[in-house]
Amino acid sequence: MNELPSFFSILGVIFVIIIIVFGILLLITTILVYSIVKRKKILFPGATLFLLDTLYYPLKRLVVSINLDESIVDKIEIDIRNKILKDEYFSSNIKDRIVVFPYCLRSIECKAQVSPELGVNCIKCGKCKIGDFKEICDSNSIEVFIAPGGSFVKRVLKKHPKSSVLLVACHVELNEMMRILSAKEIPQYGILLRKTGCIETDVDMDLVKEMLFEVQK
Ligand code: SF4
Repeated sequence: MNELPSFFSILGVIFVIIIIVFGILLLITTILVYSIVKRKKILFPGATLFLLDTLYYPLKRLVVSINLDESIVDKIEIDIRNKILKDEYFSSNIKDRIVVFPYCLRSIECKAQVSPELGVNCIKCGKCKIGDFKEICDSNSIEVFIAPGGSFVKRVLKKHPKSSVLLVACHVELNEMMRILSAKEIPQYGILLRKTGCIETDVDMDLVKEMLFEVQK
């Protein structure tokens, strides 16, 4: 007769403990994010990345409630992953690298065909920055993909499992793709768009070139 109430009271205690632990972790992560923003220094990169990944959505809400831009969560994760993974990426063979651009970087007049496996098949028409960049990559036997969405990178990796990946995207897509690649232990480097939006976005192409051909000295 007494078993049912005691079972529920144990369940209640466990629930309260989970809420308290969750609250403490959220508080610690918010303090870490705040100190990274203010001091521009990442103290515990691995632990911070784990907390940011785990508490991603509630943290974004909390960050907005303290008047910070929600993109800061993605940008910090991208920055940490770049710092942690850059040695592996820069020590990879340039010929083994592939580049993934976002769909929105194309001109709105882009006439290239799109396929689910290969993404946008750029015909180098010159109406956006990708064409000239692809020309350089073609002459160096480096593959360039234009992704219709963040999950497209999974399909690319099925065909190129041994590649290192240079990713270009907005903060949300870039963070998502970098998480996917991290889970598969793929060497990677992420570059944020300098102008975001759904159409005709922009990236510092000189930086993309630099990161594509950069090698570890
Ligand atoms: S250069 Fe390529 S991606 Fe850009 S608009 Fe032309 S075909 Fe499309």
